[in-house]
Amino acid sequence: MSHEPDVLRAPTVDASGKRRWIYPDRRTGRLSRIRGKLAVLLMAIYILVPFSTFRGLPLFRFDVQQGIIYAVGQTFRFSDGFYLVFVILAGALALGFVTSVWGRIWCGYACPQTVFVEWIIRPIEEWIEGTALQRRRRDAGPKNLNYWLRKLSKHALYALVIWVITNAFLGYFVEPARLLTWFSSSPVAHPFAFGFMLLTFGALYFDLVWFREQFCSFLCPYARFQSVMISKATPTIAYDMKRGEPRGKHKDGDCIDCELCVRVCPTGIDIRNGLQLECIQCGRCADACDMIMTNIKRPKGLIRTASEAALEGKKPRRFRLRPAIYLTLLLINIGIMAVALGTRSDLQVTVLRQPKTTYTMMDETHIGNYFSIRVVNRSRDAHPLTVQTDPAVRLICSLCNQVLAPDAEEKGNLVLIVPATYEKSEVELNFGETKVILPILKPGKTS
Ligand code: SF4
Ligand code: SF4
Repeated sequence: MSHEPDVLRAPTVDASGKRRWIYPDRRTGRLSRIRGKLAVLLMAIYILVPFSTFRGLPLFRFDVQQGIIYAVGQTFRFSDGFYLVFVILAGALALGFVTSVWGRIWCGYACPQTVFVEWIIRPIEEWIEGTALQRRRRDAGPKNLNYWLRKLSKHALYALVIWVITNAFLGYFVEPARLLTWFSSSPVAHPFAFGFMLLTFGALYFDLVWFREQFCSFLCPYARFQSVMISKATPTIAYDMKRGEPRGKHKDGDCIDCELCVRVCPTGIDIRNGLQLECIQCGRCADACDMIMTNIKRPKGLIRTASEAALEGKKPRRFRLRPAIYLTLLLINIGIMAVALGTRSDLQVTVLRQPKTTYTMMDETHIGNYFSIRVVNRSRDAHPLTVQTDPAVRLICSLCNQVLAPDAEEKGNLVLIVPATYEKSEVELNFGETKVILPILKPGKTS
């Protein structure tokens, strides 16, 4: 016998469309202990990464001001869009692979939204305002001094921790030394920076303190994609209907319909209605139900991590096509990226014809072509910019023979002067290992 949900609407919204505040109960168990330990590790990583370096470069930073992305010893400019496409593709394929093998484990265990709400925001609330029942009663009761003092203390603590999270978050985009200057000087001295910090703080405060599970249920696109990534063989947190039904006390199913699994759910759903978009696979319901099963002396695992196929009693398949496809594409993508990075020259030279120019007669026997040159030294060492070309060609180059500082990007002008009798239609310039071929425009050939 199956039980349909009473209404087909999100559990965080009431019949009039208003927000229905969730007061999740907390029960500890095997899964919550694993998640708790992992959360501590992830929070430490999150806070430490902006302050860590690798081979003298930031371990990871998306430096908006300089237009450079630092990632594990490599630097990428915004113009390196080629690599960015592969990085984004690798992220999407990795997520597809993880989801097809382990379901929405990312949401329940590693997503910063879940980690911060579950392991910072809710514990502060529970510490100051008490259990779910106490919080619910207090919110519905008289708004006395005790009520306001608790609310005030809770929000003061929230502000403090979210300020720390905000600064760690900004550290992924701004150099910590600069961040410290923003932080320690008067807002008047850095109105834009201060406004940016306040905006980030406000957005995080709104999201973590008020929006909470609604982000997962209504905003996160991943929840919408999950259905195409998982199959009947993908393990998720699931209710064993065969074992649990018919539910209720003194019926013969194992589910006693205590509804603890619903009361602990941070997104307010009833897992007994089957896999739902709102389920972030946190396992709170499984831990709570295990506790009930222990109390009533039934085997644990009425709610557990299991695939639809396993719940139907089918044997797990050794080979699964969907994860295999994701993994193969991911490995190909990583291979291409590794080759591209391994063969990437330290020097990036881009030469483009100056807009709206063709050629100029420099004198009666020489023709000039005008270009813009942009040079990026991707290495950690100073790099002399030397250039070699056909001896018949004369070069006027504002950057050539200069020494480029590590990680420097320079822009300048380049004029190619060739004899009017020059027969070739292009000129090859060799900047060390980097070769650039430039077409020559001359009388009778202007495009
Ligand atoms: S916690 Fe377990 S026994 Fe209680 S309602 Fe949920 S599934 Fe049934
Ligand atoms: S149904 Fe269970 S696993 Fe899913 S979000 Fe609710 S408590 Fe977490």
